[in-house]
Amino acid sequence: MLTDIEISRAATLQPIGVIAASAGIPPEAVEPYGHFKAKIDLSAVPAPTQQGKLILVTAINPTPAGEGKSTTSVGLADALNRTGRKTMLALREPSLGPCFGTKGGATGGGYAQVVPMEDINLHFTGDFHAITSAHNLLAAMIDNHVHWGNALDIDVRRIVWRRVLDMNDRALRDIAQSLGGPANGFPRESGFDITVASEVMAILCLASDLHDLEARLGRIVVAYSRDKQPVTARDLKADGAMAVLLAQAIKPNLVQTLEGTPAFVHGGPFANIAHGCNSVIATRAALGLADYVVTEAGFGADLGAEKFFDIKCRQAGLKPAAAVIVATVRALKMNGGVAKADLGAPDAEAVRRGGVNLARHIENVRSFGVGVVVAINRFDGDTAEEIAVIQEIAAAQGCEAVLCSHWADGGAGAVELAEKVAALADAPSHFAPLYADDLSLFDKINAIARRIYRAEEVVADPSVLAQLARFEAAGFGHLPVCMAKTQYSFSTDPAKLGAPTGHVVSVREVRLSAGAGFVVAICGEIMTMPGLPRVPAAEGIRFGARGEIEGLF
Ligand code: ADP
Repeated sequence: MLTDIEISRAATLQPIGVIAASAGIPPEAVEPYGHFKAKIDLSAVPAPTQQGKLILVTAINPTPAGEGKSTTSVGLADALNRTGRKTMLALREPSLGPCFGTKGGATGGGYAQVVPMEDINLHFTGDFHAITSAHNLLAAMIDNHVHWGNALDIDVRRIVWRRVLDMNDRALRDIAQSLGGPANGFPRESGFDITVASEVMAILCLASDLHDLEARLGRIVVAYSRDKQPVTARDLKADGAMAVLLAQAIKPNLVQTLEGTPAFVHGGPFANIAHGCNSVIATRAALGLADYVVTEAGFGADLGAEKFFDIKCRQAGLKPAAAVIVATVRALKMNGGVAKADLGAPDAEAVRRGGVNLARHIENVRSFGVGVVVAINRFDGDTAEEIAVIQEIAAAQGCEAVLCSHWADGGAGAVELAEKVAALADAPSHFAPLYADDLSLFDKINAIARRIYRAEEVVADPSVLAQLARFEAAGFGHLPVCMAKTQYSFSTDPAKLGAPTGHVVSVREVRLSAGAGFVVAICGEIMTMPGLPRVPAAEGIRFGARGEIEGLF
């Protein structure tokens, strides 16, 4: 089998204007970036006359390699198109930093990819640059405000806005800045996060238009004054210029799959301290153009699907019609207690033990009133017996589990999945978020921890509870909660695999993302600036003899 980049490079792509036309996007709305990428000016797209069905692709708790949500999203969309259903994709933009680390790109894999993969993974249409610039403009304006007299009485010890960069660089996690004397400002400690962790990224992905974007940017809390009052981006008069920097970035990017399915790839917030889904603008645009829209949410369904439903769908008024839970033999084995090094050996009993993880995710997603089909993403070496066990586990939940080979075969490998998903999406859905807006912030955390993670109890220090009370007093009590915890377990302990019960969720810290419109509850250690591994992928990335990029995967 060729590598992802070899497959992408060998493909014959259609000009992006042809793809846009096939999606019903008029030529005047297409702003090409080269031959195979375009920004879409939605003001030039006629108002939709119908709304397509929204299909969420999510997953069981994964192995560190990922279980194929992006790959399955692409395969499913291609298969829906193959079976005569007008379908679009709405996916996240990959972050540049991790491409040089261990994980590689994030444009699907094998014969189920969005292309051109090297462009999408590296720089793409410059959205992340724009987000980085808007974020760092605000950072510069904070220090500048303090330097020129600090009229807002910002407490420099309580500046919460850090800087961002789209690179994995542990050296920048904690820094001393403004050294070198009075001309350089007031020295203080701060640090960098990776761009995808920026609140500006989350805002871009939840904003409904430019005006909403600017209003949300203005609400960002950047610091607290000496009398502990929040200082916002609007107080610093930074919101207008930040919005202007994002004028191009807010337009969704159109690309294609290897089989010519039109795909919006737009926005990519972290799935821990943010909500982990592509932009609302892209999802809505796709729903206006296609009959079916396939989208994905980061991490397993305990985090990704819950935030997709409770944050994105709640804020944007979206009504998901169906969900696909991606399961793999290897991740179920891992959930069944098999060590990472032994995942290659057949072990149907371990799959059965790990199946409790899948069963719980099925129950959870259904508790939002959304029907589920399980997609078994087949890897070489999976045995018939192991696959049959997954089907038994799903059947015990009254749920179908379909074997898919889209990674090896493209859309042809997901036709049965497409039929089952379309049937489910065409039936009435009864989506409702997990909790009401008017529940207290702590009760919202409790609802997620007990009903989705099945925790015994939630604990938090008095200082955390006091902070939640302050958020509520300041008028933020109606916001949804964005949980930040490990993606490997239902619990906050990455080692508790399967379907743990009786665990305690400890909320270490809470943060207000007033612009994005959620309160982040941090449970456990959360990394917002990744590092590179001992042997980074960057060491193998270079130009080949004919000038083609090698080593990106
Ligand atoms: P996720 O979206 O869940 O993180 P991805 O779709 O990005 O997962 O896939 C993670 C990696 O696994 C990619 O490199 C992809 O090429 C690879 N992959 C996905 N499905 C398969 C499969 N069936 N066989 C082999 N490799 C696969």
